[in-house]
Amino acid sequence: MSLITESKDLLPINIGGEMRLGGGDESATLYPATGEVVARLRAPSLADVDEAIARADHAFRTSGWAQRKPHERAAVLYRVASLIRERAEPLAQRQRLDNGKPINETRALVASAAATFQFFASACETLEETITPSRGDFMTMSVYEPMGVVAAITPWNSPIASEAQKVAPALAAGNAVVIKPAEATPLMALELAAICEEAGVPKGLISVLPGRGSVIGDAITKHPLVKRVSFTGGTSTGKHIAHIAADKMMPVSLELGGKSATMVLDDADLDHAVNGVLYGIFSSSGESCIAGSRLFVARKLYNEFLQRLSVRAAALRVGDPADERTQMGPLITAKHRESIERYVELGRSEGASVRTGGARPQGELYARGNYYMPTILEGVKNTDQICQQEIFGPVLVAMPFDNEEDLIAQANDSVYALAAGIWTRDYKRAWRIGRAVQAGTVWINTYKQFSISTPFGGWRDSGLGREKGRLGILQYMEQKSLYWGL
Ligand code: NAD
Repeated sequence: MSLITESKDLLPINIGGEMRLGGGDESATLYPATGEVVARLRAPSLADVDEAIARADHAFRTSGWAQRKPHERAAVLYRVASLIRERAEPLAQRQRLDNGKPINETRALVASAAATFQFFASACETLEETITPSRGDFMTMSVYEPMGVVAAITPWNSPIASEAQKVAPALAAGNAVVIKPAEATPLMALELAAICEEAGVPKGLISVLPGRGSVIGDAITKHPLVKRVSFTGGTSTGKHIAHIAADKMMPVSLELGGKSATMVLDDADLDHAVNGVLYGIFSSSGESCIAGSRLFVARKLYNEFLQRLSVRAAALRVGDPADERTQMGPLITAKHRESIERYVELGRSEGASVRTGGARPQGELYARGNYYMPTILEGVKNTDQICQQEIFGPVLVAMPFDNEEDLIAQANDSVYALAAGIWTRDYKRAWRIGRAVQAGTVWINTYKQFSISTPFGGWRDSGLGREKGRLGILQYMEQKSLYWGL
């Protein structure tokens, strides 16, 4: 656990298992709550990227990791889970500094990273190869082979959890992994790689290559030795990666943006729904792909619901991420806050009125951080840009709906189709609407509930492929069928 003490020195990065300074541009990671420098590092040069990938390929071919028995690889991954748990608090504090999320949220993300390693250790141990019986004078057998070097490209909103979701199944499958963390949050990937090595993952099998996505991420994606990219981030970046992947005929999984509909029906338990809608949009400051950012409320409940919701939103405790009582922290960067302010202006120009928020909070506590108030806009149409574009911040647009048909049509009228939420006491309506809504995940009377054993991913512009789930490991493997003449 080397990185917790702040230092003025440049932080080494993991290039093919060697901790050293990168040869590229220098950058600093800033604490979003105060703007203080948390760490400085130098990104890898393109030569460093080549070297890291070559070393990963070498380690894949020579370290014996892929040839270890599944239970032996699993033992290492279980140990990664244990080490993350042993260091949970310093890791959560580190992640708080990295991306400014409230400490209770970063603790949950660290716990989820440990659970992910545990889960894929078990998936690795129990992965079954398919044997088909003899069909006359021959027999066939299908086996899964690791791919080689795979890349994990991740965003800044929940670093250690996103990285674990890619690294754990990739290692379980026997691969080498090159992690490209987001520019703003390189620290957790470095921690995770160090823990993996300490747990027994062979040196060189993991590299961490921070830096600009358009340079480092692009070089990794195009590299001929990289056999798969697992990407989480924005839709336009995802489409760019998909084009490169098409040229290389390389499989990719893309976990992209969202503009998820959350729907309150006229028979909903209102206390429960207010809590859920509030959490769905304002936890993680709305910097969440699955944020329930479009709210549809049955017209007859609309005024009462919005009244209750906006009182609660205005009362959310926005502040210091280190404070256990904080419910919403700052946004990742000053630039990102400016983009959210532009969206709110766009909404106003389209006729939206601000029910609550719509400004930076005032006071000394907020002076140096990238804070923005929980914001609810109304008086909008689902076709407005403010209802169609992903804001990735604490901004909810609220609209009434008249009937189920109208609701489903509006909920599905989006290029995104990542998640949805339904609040109702009627399980038949929940089923009917849940089946009609186009989304990778539908929550009923809950929101942002997660299980590592349940597949996750988006439709349409929200992505391709699924992470998590027992079969998540298979996306890091190629299937091969063998025939025996008898
Ligand atoms: P981003 O697309 O800008 O960056 C994501 C990662 O891709 C970063 O590591 C970045 O450096 C890298 N990158 C950028 N350009 C690249 C390129 N040309 N080639 C290769 N890599 C490149 O996204 P962001 O701003 O970091 O994250 C916010 C976005 O991520 C939002 O749209 C959000 O919805 C999405 N997201 C999706 C999920 C999901 O599971 N569906 C989860 C979290 C975030």
